[in-house]
Amino acid sequence: MKTIEIRNAKHFASDETVTIYIENGVFTDKISGDADEVIDAKGLTVFPGLVDMHCHLREPGYEYREDIKSGTKSAAKGGFTSVCCMPNTNPVCDNAAVVEGILRKAEQVGSCNVFPIGAASKGLAGKEIAEMGLMKEAGIVAVSDDGKPIATANLLKKVLEYSSDFDLPVLNHCEEMSISEGAMNEGAISTALGLRGIPAIAEEIMISRDIQTAEYLDMPIHICHVSTKRGIEIIRQAKKRGVKVTCETCPHYFSLTEEACQTYDTNFKMNPPLRTEDDRLAVIEGLKDGTIDCIVTDHAPHHIDEKDIEFSLANNGIIGFETAFAVGYTYLVKTGLISLADMIKTMTVNPSSILKLGRGTLEKGMPADVMLADLNETFVYTKEEILSKSANSPYIGDELTGRVKLTIAGGKITYDELR
Ligand SMILES: [Zn+2]
Repeated sequence: MKTIEIRNAKHFASDETVTIYIENGVFTDKISGDADEVIDAKGLTVFPGLVDMHCHLREPGYEYREDIKSGTKSAAKGGFTSVCCMPNTNPVCDNAAVVEGILRKAEQVGSCNVFPIGAASKGLAGKEIAEMGLMKEAGIVAVSDDGKPIATANLLKKVLEYSSDFDLPVLNHCEEMSISEGAMNEGAISTALGLRGIPAIAEEIMISRDIQTAEYLDMPIHICHVSTKRGIEIIRQAKKRGVKVTCETCPHYFSLTEEACQTYDTNFKMNPPLRTEDDRLAVIEGLKDGTIDCIVTDHAPHHIDEKDIEFSLANNGIIGFETAFAVGYTYLVKTGLISLADMIKTMTVNPSSILKLGRGTLEKGMPADVMLADLNETFVYTKEEILSKSANSPYIGDELTGRVKLTIAGGKITYDELR
């Protein structure tokens, strides 16, 4: 394996100019002799490779939207070196054979580490618990029914109890289905547009259910893609009481609002939906005070035929790997709201520690997952540069600052814009 030396890079947290050495796929103090590859990182900032604990790679079953090869290429372009893929594939990732298939494929054609998340219930049907033990042996890092919530409080209780036997975190998509039928956030704008709205309480009711169940059992729970002010406040209060709750949000919830739906552009349609300005500010507040632990992409590729239709009929979800870092930098750091080091924690060590991945740092002896970015580069994000198979991004045409220039996963260069 090639030895690599990265020179003249500015450390993301200390601001010092550092030299990074990579040998045998890990960070080292020094390498014997000259490095096989010397990268001059003058003007660039060095970061740990980013970790995304929530994405959809679509393989097996939906390769027309994305596959492991294209999805991990897209991730590497966004500076990600580890991604955790949700189980709503076809067949569903609810057994060891599918987990093994994903890992084998990632090993063969992947451009980053892939950590599969297994289904909590068989077939994501919300009835019987999936074979967590066998899936854990095969390599899953968590369980979730994402795309859907864990259907009932009774099932959640069983899932929390059973998963704890295997030390598997439970990640829940919080949506009370009985009141969530709609295409966008419920409010004055949905009424004006004549679209059915999803009320904020659809999310908040289930966050409360999850927290109360976790508190009752004294077991950990992770809340996926939080988007509402009240939901964040419920989590904040629970954390104060000592409930073992963690949560995540996505770049679109701190950079966009429901107003974008007025264009009827379906690239602004996702679930949970874009909320109000008040909610957006609360997401930023939650990131600032640590109530929100992680920023994830919820990368959800869809074919143009699933998006280029009526707003109410279009699929939910947007791609996110290639813009997450720049959107975070542009909206949180450049604006002075959050320090660069704090933002990076939510995209590296925090998700890594929730899922016990052992990634997300530049420490000696750790896997050499690293990312170089130019924080002075402002660019217009174009459809032409997208590496994902799908192009359902709400940021196309937007000006963003902070461009990923080079990504190295496990000592191997996986994305390179420097040459
Ligand atoms: Zn979800």
